Amino acid sequence: MPIFDSCPSAPVRHLLLAAAATLLATTAPAFASSTVAERCRLALSVPVEQGRLILGRADPACRIRVGGREARVSADGHFAFGIGRDATGKIELELTDAAGRRTVESRPIATRRFAVQRIDGVPPAMVEPPPEIAARIARERAAIAAVRARDDDRADFAEAFIWPVRGRVSGVYGSQRVFNGIPRAPHMGLDIAAPTGTPIVAPAPGIVTFVQPDQYLNGGVVVLDHGHGISSTFIHLHRIDVAVGDRVAAGDPIGQVGATGRTTGPHLHWGLNWFDVALDPWPLLPALRR
Ligand SMILES: [Zn+2]
Repeated sequence: MPIFDSCPSAPVRHLLLAAAATLLATTAPAFASSTVAERCRLALSVPVEQGRLILGRADPACRIRVGGREARVSADGHFAFGIGRDATGKIELELTDAAGRRTVESRPIATRRFAVQRIDGVPPAMVEPPPEIAARIARERAAIAAVRARDDDRADFAEAFIWPVRGRVSGVYGSQRVFNGIPRAPHMGLDIAAPTGTPIVAPAPGIVTFVQPDQYLNGGVVVLDHGHGISSTFIHLHRIDVAVGDRVAAGDPIGQVGATGRTTGPHLHWGLNWFDVALDPWPLLPALRR
């Protein structure tokens, strides 16, 4: 129930589903494929847009592949997938019903405009790490990538998300950062500025899959796995209050805001992923605080 709290009311959803079914019925070949779509009762909670975590419901008997990757459907019908920042065109959802019959439903990907953020005064050694540090950075990046590959059978992502820390949004997803005048890779997370020591809480339930107090670029890192390949990565932490394997609920403390790693001031960087696809956490948060 929680994931649809901010979504259309039940009657509206019903109309949307009916409209989707009508669309399929009129555009698909007149036999098995429309039946598969109807049986899978596919419903997506938000627009298919660059950077979005898409939460969906479907008949648990159906299997769903998105962009060639399995999107696990939970026993009560929850599934999720993500749209990358630079994805364009359309996303294809391959539906397979209990009888093994398949159909493909495609949705256009809405594009977004991303900001350019200029940050000066970043220490040169952090902008261009010395060669002897490169191997360490690669190793640390790989360690995070490894835990993001998990596909746990828990639909914790389907719960309503809350803000992990109170503070000003100081950096947004997808922005192109320019450090000391040199364009860098886009910023793939949400920055919330707060004083060092400000408590950070879990924005949604999950299991802690990674803890590292002192990565070169990220400083203190915690990865929280919300199931089905959805994970939150929190970086620049001053203190970490959880250990790998801990089960946390939304609102449970996980650590403190800091300025560790590559940063110009204390803030929480929150990255959201569907496996290796970096997504925007902000649309998941209550509008009141946006
Ligand atoms: Zn950041």
